[in-house]
Parts: sequence; structure tokens; C-alpha cells
Amino acid sequence: MAVSVMKFGGSSVADIKAMRRSANIVKNTPLPVLVIVSALASVTRKLISLTYEDTTATEQQRAIEEIRSQHYAIVASLKNDQVKKPLDSLLFGLQTLMQDYAKDREASILDELLAQGELMSSLLFTEVLREEGIKTELFDVRKVMRTTECFGKGEPILNEIKSLCAAELKPLLVNQVVVTQGFIGSDAEGRTTVLGKESSDYTAALLAEALGSEHFKIWTDVPGVFSTDPKLYPQALPIAELSFGEALELTTFGAKVLHSRTLEPAIRQNMRCFVGSSVNPESGTWIGMTTHSAAKVHAITFKKEQMLIRLERSYKTSNLHFLESFVEILNRYQIDFDLLTNHGLSTTLVLDDSLANWHHKSLLSEALIQELKLLGKIEITKGVTLLALVGQHIPQCPSIKKILSATLEDMDISAFYYGTSPYSLCVVTPMAPGQLEASIARLHQQLIG
Ligand code: ADP
Ligand code: MG
Repeated sequence: MAVSVMKFGGSSVADIKAMRRSANIVKNTPLPVLVIVSALASVTRKLISLTYEDTTATEQQRAIEEIRSQHYAIVASLKNDQVKKPLDSLLFGLQTLMQDYAKDREASILDELLAQGELMSSLLFTEVLREEGIKTELFDVRKVMRTTECFGKGEPILNEIKSLCAAELKPLLVNQVVVTQGFIGSDAEGRTTVLGKESSDYTAALLAEALGSEHFKIWTDVPGVFSTDPKLYPQALPIAELSFGEALELTTFGAKVLHSRTLEPAIRQNMRCFVGSSVNPESGTWIGMTTHSAAKVHAITFKKEQMLIRLERSYKTSNLHFLESFVEILNRYQIDFDLLTNHGLSTTLVLDDSLANWHHKSLLSEALIQELKLLGKIEITKGVTLLALVGQHIPQCPSIKKILSATLEDMDISAFYYGTSPYSLCVVTPMAPGQLEASIARLHQQLIG
């Protein structure tokens, strides 16, 4: 039988109540079952805060105490406290990692430090499942999640993950639930890596792919994917079904509910993805190969803290030569971008600057800017917002004039992407603080309802 793969996010394992609710979902699923957990809510953020140069020793100790008490509160609710010893040794190791990182700021130590959140949460969730009478084994995902040694953003090596899963993980899934960690992996030398910020959803998809599952389930704090972030706009509507194409653009352009790379394995294997709430598991969103026939906007997404880069090549350089050098430079500096246009002498690029502090890496290093300057005149605009209207057959929407005027009205536009994808229309705008909520509400009322 195909393995049921399910991932529980930070809020679904935040405390004992949440863990017991999530355990109930596991209990109601027939074997074989693989469970992937994130760190307890807010723990990864606290772990990162330990590593900032301007965090004082007092702040560090406070953060460690908070992490300790979050985990201890769960241990205190368990019938036996046999997990306390391994938990204490992880907490002790955390102090050591923090000191080691402060000494030489090695990226590999940072990944090891960040991994502690998932190691602790998986330890506790395994015990909660056992107390619910479910035979459960804890598995260290680093045995199978092989990545490149790019710390902070390890690239999964798919063929190795597949053969390691067949050898190490599959045999364990026969007669018990297996609990493992999201977010983390290891390189060929066995050093811990992480797959990128909030990447546990991606772990679930990769493991489902390696195990040949038919689908995977992402359990979070909202009952599915909505027409916009329901925390920002409570009138947002749930979406029962989404096509891969739409969902891919939704997550790329900011719907935080799924890590943006989660759908890559799903699309490769035609494997459906379910998103639902562990508090209210009855309904949710299925993402798959479905197509909505009607041309319509289904969702509005946004990403703040974006960077717009405009390069103007010299007319003496041919476009092909320029593009070849440009892509080579981006590749060498491992720059991921969401949008790219090449028009006349001008090339624009939108980068997610909100990731600039993640893993203490600057997106645009001085060396990179100097190399780009050799290609042409460069203009960088920081702090812009990327707003996307996502749906089906957007350029053919009968209401396209209404959509365009609703989008353009009252909005300063730095860049506009329309007609380039069937699934979205994107605007880059220097939005004033507070203007985003109003714009989303207005667009939602006019285009979705
Ligand atoms: P988890 O910790 O379970 O991974 P996340 O916080 O990463 O959860 O993702 C869930 C959050 O995504 C929701 O609480 C919601 O605020 C946000 N979100 C943003 N856009 C959307 C959307 N279009 N639909 C649903 N949730 C969204
Ligand atoms: Mg998430």
C-alpha cells in the first residue's frame, strides 16, 4: 500500500493540546504512515535570534530558557518523562553550538544549531503518539535527506534520497508509524544542512516522492488555501481545489501556507497535495492536475520586502551575449529570482529581500553588484511589494479590463507583468505602510467577492 505522508507545522505541534489533536489525525490514518514535524511554533525564530551579532548574552539566555520551558511544558503533561534525558542533552548541545558559532560564525554550525528545533519536536511528538497507543519509531531524516553542502539552502539530491529511502526508511514503515524531521538534511560528509527557510513542507513532498506516495498532506493552522491570507483579510474564501499551475504561482508569489518549492516534487510525480487544519481536519484544499475551465482570478497574494533590479545593457553588447553573462553570474552567486523580463536594452529582476537576513547571507553582495555593473547600468529599488492576482487563463479573463483598472487604480507601479503567464498578473509597487490591507480588500471585493 502507498505510504501516507503527512506534515505537521509549528502550530500543529505547538503544545500538548495541539500535539494530541495532531496525534488523533495520525491515529485515524491506516498504516503505512510517515509523519514529518516542524519545530514547535516560534522555536526556529528563537534559534536564529541566538546567532545575531547584536543579541546580548542576556537575550540569548532568555531565548534558551523560553525554548526549554516550551518543551518542558509538554514533557510535564506526559505520563512518563523518559524523553527528558534526550531532550536535556539536545538543549545542552544547543548551548555548545551557540558558543561555537559565536567563535567563527561557520555556516555549517549554524545549520546544526537550527536543526535542534526539529530534533526536539520529533522526539516529543513520538512520545505523544506512543502514549496514544500508537506503535511509533523516531527516525533521523538526515540518514536519507541527502543535499549539497550549500548551508542554509541545501539542494536535495533526488536519486540519492530515493535510494536511501528505499534502504533505510521503507523497511521501518511496515508495522508502525515513523516520525521524522522536516527542514533538515545532511551533505555527503554527514554534516547537517537545512533546506531553506520554513522548508518542512518541501521535506514532506520530497519524501512522498522518494517513497512513491500518491499524495501528501500538509496540516497547518488554516483549513486550506484561501483566496488571500485569511489573517490579513478575514473575509477570504476557502478554495476546495487548485491546479498545480495556479498553486505554484500562489506559493511563489507569497502564499506562505506552502513553502514555494513544495509543489515541484508533486508536479514531477503528478502527486496530489492536501492542505488542511489540524484543528479542524474535515475540510481543506486539494492541489492536483485539475483545471478550472473558466477564466477567473481565484486568489491574491503578496510579498513584502522585495527588491527590483533594473539593468540597462550597453547597445554595443548583443542581447544574447548579455543574457548569457547575466545568467552565468546569477547562477554562480546562487541568486533565485521570482520574475525576470528582458525588453529592449532593459532587464528587470525581482528578488525576495525578506530572505536577506535568513542565514546571515546578503542577497546582493558588493562583489555581485560589481560584476553586474560590468554588464550595464544598474538601478536597485528596495522595499517594494510584489502583488499577484492568481487564477486560470488570466490574460483571457472576460473581465480583464475591470481587473486591470482595479489593479492600476490608486497604485504606483514600478513593474507590471501581464500576459507572461496564464496563471497570474503581477505588480511591483512601492506600497506605503498600511496601504497593503486596503489594496487587498479592494481587489478582493472587486475581483473575487
Ligand atoms: P506552518 O507553521 O503550519 O507551516 P505557516 O505559518 O507557514 O504554517 O503557514 C500558514 C499560514 O499561511 C496561515 O496562518 C496564513 O496566515 C498564511 N497564509 C498566507 N496566505 C495564505 C493563503 N492564501 N491561504 C491560506 N493561508 C495563507
Ligand atoms: Mg509553513
